[in-house]
Amino acid sequence: MTGMRTLTILGATGSIGQSTLDVVTRHPQRFRVAALTAHAQVGPMLSACRLVRPRYAVMVTESAAAELRQRLRDGGLDTEVLSGETALSQVASLPEVDTVMAAIVGAAGLRPTLSAAAAGKRVLLANKESLVMAGHLFLRAVREGGGMIVPIDSEHNAILQCLPGRFNGDWSVGGVRRILLTASGGPFRCRPLSELAGVTPEQACAHPNWVMGRKISVDSATMMNKGLEVIEAHYLFNAPAEAIEVVVHPQSVIHSMVEYVDGSVIAQLGNPDMRTPIAHALAFPERIESGVQPLNFFDLAGLHFEKPDLARFPCLRLAYEVLRVGGNMPAVLNAANEVAVGRFLEGRLRFDRIATVIDAVLSRVAHETPQSLEDVLEADRRAREMALQTVTHA
Ligand code: NAD
Ligand code: MG
Repeated sequence: MTGMRTLTILGATGSIGQSTLDVVTRHPQRFRVAALTAHAQVGPMLSACRLVRPRYAVMVTESAAAELRQRLRDGGLDTEVLSGETALSQVASLPEVDTVMAAIVGAAGLRPTLSAAAAGKRVLLANKESLVMAGHLFLRAVREGGGMIVPIDSEHNAILQCLPGRFNGDWSVGGVRRILLTASGGPFRCRPLSELAGVTPEQACAHPNWVMGRKISVDSATMMNKGLEVIEAHYLFNAPAEAIEVVVHPQSVIHSMVEYVDGSVIAQLGNPDMRTPIAHALAFPERIESGVQPLNFFDLAGLHFEKPDLARFPCLRLAYEVLRVGGNMPAVLNAANEVAVGRFLEGRLRFDRIATVIDAVLSRVAHETPQSLEDVLEADRRAREMALQTVTHA
């Protein structure tokens, strides 16, 4: 591999951030970490700083930054602690950094991830919400910055691995016919519909195959996660909505597939462990050890496939609809979803009302074509306001 890669990890204390640190520290001769960021979790950030000794650590809240500064000083570490949202963008575009892991959850990741793209970094994209909100702006920033996006989402990383090596977004040249995006169906795939109103945040976050942050766990339970991923695939692979089919596959062993015009279907398989796509993206186009157990075919009871049930999972239908309409609608869907999921996690909204709230917000918003980041953020802000009003009446 050509030299050492220098990283910023946005969202270092989260599920993806921690898995990234696990892979990176297996290869000290390949990766160094220049900066880590987190919202407010001082303990995990302190441990991460001890582990990789970054030059900068960013905490979004000033009180967390002050506490971290003190504890680092007590421990004799010379990491410089910054605070506030602008510091996130600052460390995402440091001149000495070539690779940025974008693993903040939700719309909060948009600005720093865009900064990394505009600065020409290799963006390892876990924060799918930023692409859903501002896909066109994002792709333009990557083009103008001269960097690239390597997807971390296991499905999109799998698709990248299944596409022809020379794929440049032109489907006719590559002979690609369809993307088959696999989905586990989450914890409520087989629950009687009548019980969905009463499920708790703990039940929603108990994913059968993956251990993840709480927001994406709820998104998996509603299948909004798959909806966001359909939109993500549209932007990453220049795929029209009709060419992206969701295939429910409860074992989460096939991470996605690409179908070609000659009838070939290429799949990527592996144990459900995010360190595989993370290692793939970190070393791309090379391969490195990730710490993931090899897949044992003799332990697999079988692989099962079914069509998604859109009556059970209305969020998936809504995501396809906003993808077809385009413009500000994906950002509105994302914002309404973040508000509704936040309320559900606080125990203040029923699980089955998450889709109702999003649907109500979408039907109240007029279609517009955002021209700038400010337009996107304004659409996000207004949709959040509407979602909050709707939640109180839901
Ligand atoms: P998480 O909740 O475990 O971690 C989120 C991280 O973002 C934390 O470091 C937190 O401090 C930081 N953060 C939260 N709010 C912030 C804010 N307002 N400003 C700045 N930082 C903030 O989430 P996760 O499961 O690691 O997911 C991160 C992203 O990766 C999400 O976009 C998710 O959809 C995506 N993703 C996750 C997985 C997974 O297996 N966990 C898989 C695919 C994609
Ligand atoms: Mg995924």
